[in-house]
Amino acid sequence: MNKATRKAVIAGNWKMNNTPAETAALIDAMKPLVKDADCDVVLCVPYIDLFAAMDAAKGSNIKIGAENCHWAEKGAFTGEVSAKMLNACGVEYVIIGHSERRQYFGETDVTVHDRVRAALNEGLKVILCVGETETENEQGITAEVLRKQTKIALQGVSEEELKSIIIAYEPVWAIGTGKTATAEDADKYNGIIRACVAELYTAEAAEAFTVQYGGSMNAKNAAELLSKVNVDGGLIGGASLKAEDFSIIVKAASI
Ligand code: PEP
Repeated sequence: MNKATRKAVIAGNWKMNNTPAETAALIDAMKPLVKDADCDVVLCVPYIDLFAAMDAAKGSNIKIGAENCHWAEKGAFTGEVSAKMLNACGVEYVIIGHSERRQYFGETDVTVHDRVRAALNEGLKVILCVGETETENEQGITAEVLRKQTKIALQGVSEEELKSIIIAYEPVWAIGTGKTATAEDADKYNGIIRACVAELYTAEAAEAFTVQYGGSMNAKNAAELLSKVNVDGGLIGGASLKAEDFSIIVKAASI
């Protein structure tokens, strides 16, 4: 198997944007633009928008995800939402380990692992984010950081469960900054993640495994990034808030 037989996944991460009414309107605008996609199309939205998003996406090829989930099934965790609750609501995907969670909300490799475990237990599909900071990049330790984050997150995950996980390589310095990894670097580091998956599981599992790139991917640079053999789609922040731009990225992944 190779890129030609791995279906790309283009996922939007709306972050803390859009009310339920704005969610419905944006998805209504996106639906006709992405309906012929030859890739999976996912929108990860704030908890409060999930029902509006699922309603608006009904009958379309757009799948809906959350932006995080807690590791416990229930309990005294004010403000949190469990994987079990997401599953009960009909949510299909969840982003775990986004760098903004790691940076601003104290997420560690261990809590990321615990959240992955909880999501898998509930049958959710996981978009697991890994990526180096600018300092780590300058120190030349990107590969080590990616391998460490990947290995800890996947501890105890079976090869069967791995089929429900996508990894998004997201250099922290590229998220929301307008700076993008070169297509060559995205390909190289996505390849390092794939090699790590091969080491942990099998060559077959790694070949079938989807590794996205995320970090200022937009309508202009998507085609080049997505042309690389190890770039199986993208996790898109800013550009996923604009129907036209998001659809151009979806089209670039559908070639
Ligand atoms: C993201 O939030 O995962 C992301 C990649 O954001 P942006 O595309 O805005 O850099």
